[in-house]
Amino acid sequence: MSTKRIIIASGNEGKIREIREIMKDPEVEIVSMKAAGVDIDIVEDGSTFEENALIKAKAVWNVCKGCVLADDSGLEVDYLNKEPGIYSARYLGEDTPYSIKNAKIIERLDGVPKEKRTGRFVCAVAAVLPDGKEVVVRATMEGYIGYEERGTNGFGYDPIFRPEGYECSSGELPMEEKNEISHRGKAFRLIWSEIQDLL
Ligand code: IMP
Repeated sequence: MSTKRIIIASGNEGKIREIREIMKDPEVEIVSMKAAGVDIDIVEDGSTFEENALIKAKAVWNVCKGCVLADDSGLEVDYLNKEPGIYSARYLGEDTPYSIKNAKIIERLDGVPKEKRTGRFVCAVAAVLPDGKEVVVRATMEGYIGYEERGTNGFGYDPIFRPEGYECSSGELPMEEKNEISHRGKAFRLIWSEIQDLL
């Protein structure tokens, strides 16, 4: 059995663990860009999730070739014109705690009824293959913004997000269950189904 090596254009070990858990394929070795010897700063200046994912994947591919995957994700709140969107990590400042970011979103939705609190987590994943071919996919987890923070399992905006069809927040779901329905879980499974025969 030959092992396929995939380099993830991210320095976030938590994210890499989550991707390993999602892909769960004994034939695939998932390594971080650092483990692949790539130490570069990447400026994410695209205007869509797809553009940002591709910027990251290409930047790493230019250094190490191979098969590189990168994701870009965020929360879109319909009532807030899809904010924070691609600025999800930078919303109210990169170092601002999520308790403050989440409280601000709930405050901005004060008095807004449930049917108008719709939103989604979006994840775009870009792959650059060893021959330079590019593939980009997108997936979402639809839901609405709750009225208070709940749960400590997830990260970021999970405590205020209620996935469609669930009575709890995505921060209350065990990681395996979240990966089944999450934007990132769906996007990584989709890209793997598209590229596995090309490697
Ligand atoms: P990036 O994809 O690493 O750029 O992450 C973008 C930002 O989107 C994160 O820092 C979080 O604020 C938010 N985000 C993306 N996915 C999730 C999720 O599954 N739960 C909570 N927040 C998320």
